[in-house]
Amino acid sequence: MDRKLFAIFGDPVEHSLSPRMHNRAFRELGERACYGRYRLENGELLRQKVLDLGLAGLNITVPHKEYAYAACDFLDPFARKVGSVNTIVVHEGKLSGYNTDAPGFLRVVESFGGVRSVVFLGAGGTARSSAPLLREAGYAVTVLNRSAPRLGPFAEAGFETATYAEFTPRAFDLVVNMSSAGLKDDSLPAPEGLLRELLRGARGALDVIYGRKTPFLRLAESLGIPARDGLAMLLYQGVIAFEIFTEGRHDPAAVEAALRAALAL
Ligand code: NDP
Repeated sequence: MDRKLFAIFGDPVEHSLSPRMHNRAFRELGERACYGRYRLENGELLRQKVLDLGLAGLNITVPHKEYAYAACDFLDPFARKVGSVNTIVVHEGKLSGYNTDAPGFLRVVESFGGVRSVVFLGAGGTARSSAPLLREAGYAVTVLNRSAPRLGPFAEAGFETATYAEFTPRAFDLVVNMSSAGLKDDSLPAPEGLLRELLRGARGALDVIYGRKTPFLRLAESLGIPARDGLAMLLYQGVIAFEIFTEGRHDPAAVEAALRAALAL
């Protein structure tokens, strides 16, 4: 086969812009490769599907990042630490896993400027990989969630945590919807009264969801808070993933330019 195959695995996966991004960059940078999408319902089949399809690499989205972690033969140290894989490369039937979501997210937070304290609404895989990286970069991170079980690992790692019901609102520089509330439905990630109080004192609001104006973003905008969706995070995690797929053969600025053009950013 003279063309390497890549794909995004997830469920749902129809909305993903990753094929558009990576195909544009493959074309512009002269890589003989193409990138498709694969709706995988049962995450336990991930490894077998990757091998059956003869993929050279893939990205993994909701809800399979933990299955992806479990499917790998080798793990990058950061992916091992956070327990979540969104990028895999395949060499001779062996899968190597990386996490590019968290460094992508960090770049977006940095781009807000002047942010020191960040509150996450949601405690899933994306929050789990991003919280330690933000803390290492000097940000104070508080993690709120609608239910208690997923907060346990954050509390053990020394983060301030609370359920929405038990949290007394105070000001944070940046309020982030880290949940999937608003991805397929019209729900807010937290009770509206709490969100209003959190947003009122904030410099910015960020939603990791992209491609639609979520109720969270609409609420932030209605309060006059600068609000961004998850497109920039998608871009930056994609730049890092592309560099992994192509083993660093291309200038990162050229990769970013191609991916930005694909997203019309
Ligand atoms: P997980 O499935 O691991 O976690 C989901 C989290 O959302 C949990 O904390 C859950 O709370 C919470 N949640 C789900 N539905 C609701 C709701 N209706 N109301 C309140 N809380 C809710 O998801 P991930 O961390 O993997 O992904 C989260 C989001 O991040 C997704 O929307 C995904 O698309 C997006 N994402 C975007 C990226 C980008 O590049 N822009 C990259 C990676 C992810 P509970 O524990 O109570 O169930």
